[in-house]
Order: sequence, then C-alpha cells, then structure tokens
Amino acid sequence: MPFSSFGLTPALLKVLADQNYTQPYPIQREVIPAILKGKDVLGIAPTGSGKTASYVLPILTNLQGQSEAKNRHARVLVLVPTRELAVQVREVFIVFGSWLPERIKTIAVFGGVSINPQMIGLQGVHVLIATPGRLLELVESNAVHLSEIDTLVLDEADKMLNLGFQEEMNRIIALLPKKRQNLLFSATLNEEIANINQILLHDPVVIKIEEERANLELIEQVGYFVTEEKKGPLLRYIIKKNDLKQVLVFTSSVYKADNVADKLRKNGIDATAIHSKKSQGARTEALSKFKSGQIRVLVATDLLARGIDIESLPHVVNYELPRSPKDYIHRIGRTGRAEAYGEAISFITPEDQHHFKVIQKKMGKWVDMIDSENIDLKGY
Ligand code: AMP
Repeated sequence: MPFSSFGLTPALLKVLADQNYTQPYPIQREVIPAILKGKDVLGIAPTGSGKTASYVLPILTNLQGQSEAKNRHARVLVLVPTRELAVQVREVFIVFGSWLPERIKTIAVFGGVSINPQMIGLQGVHVLIATPGRLLELVESNAVHLSEIDTLVLDEADKMLNLGFQEEMNRIIALLPKKRQNLLFSATLNEEIANINQILLHDPVVIKIEEERANLELIEQVGYFVTEEKKGPLLRYIIKKNDLKQVLVFTSSVYKADNVADKLRKNGIDATAIHSKKSQGARTEALSKFKSGQIRVLVATDLLARGIDIESLPHVVNYELPRSPKDYIHRIGRTGRAEAYGEAISFITPEDQHHFKVIQKKMGKWVDMIDSENIDLKGY
C-alpha cells in the first residue's frame, strides 16, 4: 500500500519522496487512514516505529482547506513529556508542513527557556507542541487559547503519566472543547494508559505494533565483564581500537555523565555530556552537533533514551545498566533504526551480572560476553 493511496494532500507526497519515505511503516498504514477519517486513535508502538509521521501527515492534511483560525487559537495541540521530544516533533511538522500550499504555523513551547519569545511566537499559531507546565503558564497569561483545539495528541503518554504530569494534564484537558479528535501514543500499555484511554478517547481505533523483534535483530549486542575502575579505560579502548565515530554512552547519573565525558576529553576523545542539569540551549546544541557528526561521543542519562530520534546511530554503550529491562531496550533501540545495523555494548560489573540476566530474559535474547580481563588496557 503506497503513501499515495491514503488521500494525503498531494504536496505531502512530494516531501515523502524527497525524505526517502518510500513505503509506509506498519503503524502508518493503520494510523493515517484512521486519523483522516476523524477517528480517535490509541497507538501502542515503540520508539522508532514511525509514529510521529503517522500523525503529522494526516493532521497536516486535515488542516488544509480549513477556515483560518482566530489569532492565538491553536487548532492542534501535541503534548509531550520532554523538551527534546517537543523540538523533534516540531521538526517533523516543519519538514512536511513547509511545502503545503496553505501555510501552517508550528511552534514548540517548553520550560527552562525564556517565555517571552514563545509568547510572541504564538501569534497566528496552528500547531502547538508543548510540555504541560509551560503550556499552562502561557494559557494563564493569555498568550494562547485552547478553545479551538480540534485535535489533541498525547505523545509518549506512558512517560507523561509516569513523570507525574497527571494534574497538569487534567487542567489542560478541562480547557479543551469537548468535541475534538484525540490521538494517544505510548510505547507501552499499562494501567495508567488504560485509565487515561477511558477518560480521553471516544471509541478509538486501537493499533498495537509489537516491540519490533526485527529491530532487535538488527542490533548486534555484546557485553563486557569489567570492574568499575576499568570501565573508563575499556571505553576508550573500544572507541579508539575500533575507531568509532559516533557513540552514544548511557550512564545512570548526571554526575557520572559529566565525569565520563571529562575523562574522554582528557584522553583526546571529543565528548559532551547531556542531561537534565544542562541548560536547554546546551542540550539542543550538543544533540545537533552529535547528530551532524561534530561531536564524537555523547554521554547521556536516560533523558535521551526515549523518544529522541537520531537517524541510524551506529553505537550505543551502556556504561551503566538501566534499572528496568524496558529502558535497556529503549536505550539500545537508538541503534538499529530505520533498518540500519547497529551495535549495543554493555559494561557488566560483578554486581550487575544477575540484573543483566534478568534483562536478557525479558528481552528474550542472550548477549555474547567478553571478559575484559583478557584485554590489554595499558595506555588507554
Ligand atoms: P519515529 O518513531 O517517529 O521517531 O520515527 C523513526 C524514524 O523513522 C525517523 O527517523 C523517521 O524519519 C523515519 N521514518 C518514519 N517513517 C518512515 C518511512 N515510512 N520510511 C522511511 N523512514 C521513515
């Protein structure tokens, strides 16, 4: 089923071709027609499955030919849990929206940066992408009104509910018109999602895309038995020996992320840390430099593990294991995306061994292990 069979607005077909979207992904085959028909949608799909385009394309199509919105009255509201995801979703709207005959104004608003430019930017907005707290601030100061919203998207809804946005979400939902289209996307279907689904969605089309086995198949996983003290030298050895050019390293704390990045730099490997204690500007800059290959190693906390798309990232290192097996899969899912091969390396200390077994069992896949004792780390 080609993209041209859905009834998307013709200008989008050109952009799809231009972006090398040759065939719709499974989620897109189901979600696009449902949204075009005006149905509510509950999409359970892992990151990397193509969910963003699955809602952006039909929403842009639906916005064409509508009467002009009142000033500062957004038509589409996309709620997201993090600033990074807000920026990323905006990019997808802009890439696809920029060729449309009728101009669509898209803005992303989030906390941690000055509110004034956002207030000005909301002039003439059609599509508003927002984290909940900042959105409420902007509504309270009358910079934007939600009374004309006809489509609501909750992206990474599981994360949003986890992060305790519930009260803010209730306040936002109370401000929306009752008659609207609701689209909810989540990587997992848990009790909270089931609850919010009942409150929010009206006779939804439910689409469940399994955590892609095929995706995991594209990721070569390897574990290194290593002691805590040897992790630094081992990381440098792996990067230098294999001449890795673009590596995402995960740590479990902000302190550790800074520390690992510092040590890499001291040893002549270009690295930057990215985590919640960095300013939004620094985070955006680091991410875009990393994406474009100007930074060799990005050291991140789990802030980045979900939702952020870095096209076909070749190498991910778990410097420290995440607590939950799901987070492990999200982390390694940064590679092996868009059908490109990737490699995921995990450092396993003696204390981690039991936990790593649990992770592998949950994942349904056993990882080849290498003992770093047998590697000469002198000089690294
Ligand atoms: P997402 O799950 O929305 O983060 O998308 C994952 C990645 O897949 C992004 O890099 C998209 O640009 C890419 N993508 C989404 N749909 C398609 C498609 N039909 N063909 C090729 N690439 C796609």
